Amino acid sequence: MAHVVGIDLGTTNSLIAYMDGETPRAIADDKGRTALPSVVAFLEEASAESVLVGEEAKQYLTTRPKSTIYSVKRFMGKGREDLKDDLKMLPFSLVGQEKEAIRIGIGKKTYTPTEISAHILRGLKARAEKALNTPITKAVITVPAYFNDSQRQATKDAGKQAGLEVLRILNEPTAASLAYGLQKEKEGTIAVYDLGGGTFDISILKIKNGIFQVLSTHGDTLLGGDDFDRQLLKRIRDEVLEQYDVDLLKNGALLQEVRLMSEQVKWQLSSQTSADVSLILPDNKGRYERQFTRSEYEGMIKGLIDRTLESCHKALSDAKLSPEDVDEVVLVGGSTRVPLIKERVGDLFKKVPHSELNPDEVVALGAAVQAKILSGGITDMLLLDVTPLSLGIETMGGIVSRLIQRNTPIPTTAKEAYTTHVDGQRTVSIHVVQGEREMVGDCRSLAKFNLTGIDPLPAGMPRIEVVFLIDANGILNVTAKDLRSGKETTVEVTPTYGLSDEEAEKMISASMEHAKEDLEKRQRIESINEAETVLRHTEKALAQGSDLLDGDEREKIEAIMTQLKAAMSEGTHRQIRETLTELNQVTQRFAADLMSQTVKEALKNKKLSDV
Ligand code: AMP
Repeated sequence: MAHVVGIDLGTTNSLIAYMDGETPRAIADDKGRTALPSVVAFLEEASAESVLVGEEAKQYLTTRPKSTIYSVKRFMGKGREDLKDDLKMLPFSLVGQEKEAIRIGIGKKTYTPTEISAHILRGLKARAEKALNTPITKAVITVPAYFNDSQRQATKDAGKQAGLEVLRILNEPTAASLAYGLQKEKEGTIAVYDLGGGTFDISILKIKNGIFQVLSTHGDTLLGGDDFDRQLLKRIRDEVLEQYDVDLLKNGALLQEVRLMSEQVKWQLSSQTSADVSLILPDNKGRYERQFTRSEYEGMIKGLIDRTLESCHKALSDAKLSPEDVDEVVLVGGSTRVPLIKERVGDLFKKVPHSELNPDEVVALGAAVQAKILSGGITDMLLLDVTPLSLGIETMGGIVSRLIQRNTPIPTTAKEAYTTHVDGQRTVSIHVVQGEREMVGDCRSLAKFNLTGIDPLPAGMPRIEVVFLIDANGILNVTAKDLRSGKETTVEVTPTYGLSDEEAEKMISASMEHAKEDLEKRQRIESINEAETVLRHTEKALAQGSDLLDGDEREKIEAIMTQLKAAMSEGTHRQIRETLTELNQVTQRFAADLMSQTVKEALKNKKLSDV
């Protein structure tokens, strides 16, 4: 069976993994390294052979800064105007107008972040093909849980450009949970704490019957292990300046040496209680020597860890949970090897976090598990996403009839029957909308189509069945069918296309803000719809059964009908309902008489036809 691989396309490093039987394994390069630096160097313009990836590219970061691209994940699916100022300060040039997608200028050519990412993916694909000795054509690629639709689409496109069919874009925290086999839990809440080199994310997930749902995410895109290095670097710089009058900032090569040294000190302090530093200073200024203890270092990084814990509290409160509600905690990212982090995260959630797997590989390993599930290798698990917003159709008076509620796990299907409003109506218009508000005008319009060829019948008689079906990729199929004639029409839409997370959130919070007025509007329109039907029927009855009414009675009925019309145009839904009740009361006797007359007629007709 061909291997379907799992790929962690990271900001600093990327990894590729596959399932070796039942065990997910990260694939290493010739030198045994599993992490491929997410760096792409363009040595010459317009020559595919001169593009280097990974360690080979990394060595050009300082010598060819303008054409060696790193951190490209930060630009995926983004426009110029989305960029924060600190992201604009890069050695390579970002081009394109304010409103356009970002492009990276290298020499005379420009590249999209997707094209650069495709190079990283090609590098990983080649590594896996060499190691497994088989062509790799299908993959699951992970993205942060907070990635919006265009960032996900850009990632998927990168896979395609690299010659991969992307079976699923998977959330990184979900992947980490899969690596620990947490999908086997019947039910539970998982916190995934991910601290890498430059970014921090916390995600709270809910799992039920193998279905993962992201309840909330929080984080800091500019906080990571690099900041721990910087704390050590700053301390050394200050001490060297004070004791030896040497300014490291004025000596680039020495500064670089201390930077690397700081990271090594940090690593050592994860497994030892002390680490020694020795630095020969220029101009015969002597040697700076120092021992750092773990507790001293912990004092330096405490404030940074506190910031990550504050994010955890925010994510919990967004998910309306307390730390005790979390059943499992998963650690991801190289920086979670710091013992103080394990301890503080464990204290916060009051349980020992999962850290048995290599925290650098855990996301890729989980992606490989998902790849196997999707390729049918593991059949007893179902892995699903949820719809971010409700989906429905427009009904009379611009009211939304909701078929699928938001947060419903997908794939899912829903069915509802509707009818016509006018006698002999042959066409109905189906307007598919997305959102949480009661009125169509306040929701997002997704598609409009007509169902024609309905059998002409009195209003309210035809049965038009509308079926919504969302597949595993989030594609919505809407079918409308006239059950009598069998005529049907189908459209396909992608509900999340072009919808950012912020927009989705805005739509949800607007629905809460406007809940009361929306409900009033809806009730008013519903009572108007009902009143229209009753008026139509009454008018018909008045014409049909004029011999059953005396003048007084007719006058009374007509007066209330006028009153009802006035209430429909200006009254509240309560006034409309009250007038409707009054109309029903005054027409009660007449309606009963009319009914028995109609029955008698029908029986007469029956007899006739029986003869
Ligand atoms: P990631 O982005 O997940 O690859 O994480 C990279 C970060 O993890 C870098 O800041 C590394 O210095 C850090 N890291 C790797 N190993 C260790 C360790 N043993 N102790 C502390 N930090 C580490």
